[in-house]
Amino acid sequence: MIFMEKKLEIAGWKKTSCDDGPGMRSVLFLQGCSMNCAGCHNKIAQKKGNGELWDVAEIADSIIQQCHNKRLTISGGEPLEQWQELKELIAMLAERNFDICIYTGWNKEEVPDEVFQMVNYVKCGSFAADLKSDNIHYVGSSNQRMFKRETSGEWVELKLQIG
Ligand code: SF4
Repeated sequence: MIFMEKKLEIAGWKKTSCDDGPGMRSVLFLQGCSMNCAGCHNKIAQKKGNGELWDVAEIADSIIQQCHNKRLTISGGEPLEQWQELKELIAMLAERNFDICIYTGWNKEEVPDEVFQMVNYVKCGSFAADLKSDNIHYVGSSNQRMFKRETSGEWVELKLQIG
């Protein structure tokens, strides 16, 4: 039987960022988002097929080599549109005790429970141009919300700082 390695379509990589979730983090951008928000900050990552296809294990190796503090944000595009493949990557990184934050445009109620079982932070909600803000930490518009899994396993909403 031929084993087919799962692949993720990638839009880009940022080795360090202080804007994409708590603490200094590396950011993996996945390609493809069907939400088409007006004023999208990353329009180039919307169209599926415009990114690079990478084997999941290859991505995991590259992240392990480059992200030394083990804090990773996965953004896009819309990462949850590739969830079946993405969860394999997250499982590989979880074995190395990575702290994972997902940036999704989906509302909290739309995010599968499985996501909350596998990651540490989830930023929920699509970008709303009429609620755009340049000074709320970690988000681009005031409707977006950030959730954190406590060590107890309980999920809490973070009160995002302004300024
Ligand atoms: S969810 Fe994000 S990537 Fe997708 S269209 Fe909206 S702003 Fe752009």
